[in-house]
Amino acid sequence: MQYGYEEVITPQVFTRELWERSGHWEHYREDMFTVSRGRKDDDGDGGTVSAAEDESTMMSLKPMNCPAHCLVFASARRSYRDLPMRLADFSPLHRDEATGALGGLTRVRRFHQDDAHIFCTEAQVGAEVQDALAFVQRVYEMLGMTVSVVLSTRPEEKEGGLAAGPAASCCGGGGNGDGDGDEISNLPSSSSSLSTSSSLSSSSSSSLGDDATWARAEGALREALDASRLPWTESPGDGAFYGPKIDVTATDAAGRGHQCATIQLDFVTPRRFDLRYDATAAGTEGADADDARPRPVMIHRAALGSVERLMAIMLEATGGNLPSWLHPRQVALIPVDDRNVPVDAASTTAGAASSTSSSTSSTSTGTGTTTRTAPSAVEMCERVARGLPAHMTSRVIARPGTLGARIRRAREEGWRWIAVVGDREVENGTVNVKGFGEMRPEDLPGLIAKPGEPERTAGDSEESK
Ligand SMILES: [Zn+2]
Repeated sequence: MQYGYEEVITPQVFTRELWERSGHWEHYREDMFTVSRGRKDDDGDGGTVSAAEDESTMMSLKPMNCPAHCLVFASARRSYRDLPMRLADFSPLHRDEATGALGGLTRVRRFHQDDAHIFCTEAQVGAEVQDALAFVQRVYEMLGMTVSVVLSTRPEEKEGGLAAGPAASCCGGGGNGDGDGDEISNLPSSSSSLSTSSSLSSSSSSSLGDDATWARAEGALREALDASRLPWTESPGDGAFYGPKIDVTATDAAGRGHQCATIQLDFVTPRRFDLRYDATAAGTEGADADDARPRPVMIHRAALGSVERLMAIMLEATGGNLPSWLHPRQVALIPVDDRNVPVDAASTTAGAASSTSSSTSSTSTGTGTTTRTAPSAVEMCERVARGLPAHMTSRVIARPGTLGARIRRAREEGWRWIAVVGDREVENGTVNVKGFGEMRPEDLPGLIAKPGEPERTAGDSEESK
């Protein structure tokens, strides 16, 4: 939201009509999961339906969000003042990948993209792309990867097809695949085969999509790339027929490149959905004329691409040892002894140090703790866990019986840090973190390295002894 996006959640299932309009039904259908309607007697006769009728009422799980976001845009009359409109959507996407193509987390049939679509005026393209590039750069810096960028420009045989071709392959690259672009290439990239849907080219006064528009758009992209100071190259003629695009390759610590992020301009989809906006203040004369109601440019943008696939890349690049800020299991808190382990350890309340344990010494150490009855080690662990900030994950491991077994369990579960609490720590109001020594509970969050920064090692620890 910091970048001006509005998060939306759009439905999973859409009618065949929508997919026909977007062009997916014609060109992407074998990669889509279709859904048959259970209610087949909408016409009221209660009879059975023919295969043809069944086919016509069929629906589909969405393989991408673009058409849904077009519907959001079209749900109200838009003015130039509403632009740029940036819609972000994390909803699950489904693609019917061939069984043989599935692999681990890298290629799955259900996945999530950090998907966004920006609807803007042609004049806004440069600034929007620049912002999107800055966003992508920041994301990969945080992940400890470097990025390089390729601008793909206008394909040779663009003429004729641009007005009618579907942008069915948008959001394909860097999405669920392995980044080799095969999702795009398995669609008809030759625009000549798509130029038959004349109903969609009704607006012959296409300000978008003509040669000058392409040239201006590519110029804006080059300027944005130069301004980003990212290393970039140009791949002439490799653009999609619906607009030029920027592909971002992220290189991990091991030097392997992964095509993840994509920024694609799209002149075609806004036409297919007949999207327009008021170019001047509403109510002026001739406000409904085509000139006064131009089409927005649509920008498809994903920084991470498929989140599942990115996780696979991160896990492989780090050998499973994710950066601490991203680690799903950060600190395990382990009492040295298991006295006073409640039957249901999770149900004990904070600060209820009423139970008598062996260590009842009053403490007022350097941590500023006020005098009170000391808790048991288990209670102390639970208290520390509850005091951690919400972004830090923890678990109290009070079973099984021996300390060694509890530490083993923490290791098996993959906890990043193991903090032990014995009598001494109870007395001092501290925890003892393996590799770092004794520290105050409030210093535990400081173990988490900030994104892009080196991890803390034992030598860095500020032990509060
Ligand atoms: Zn898209």
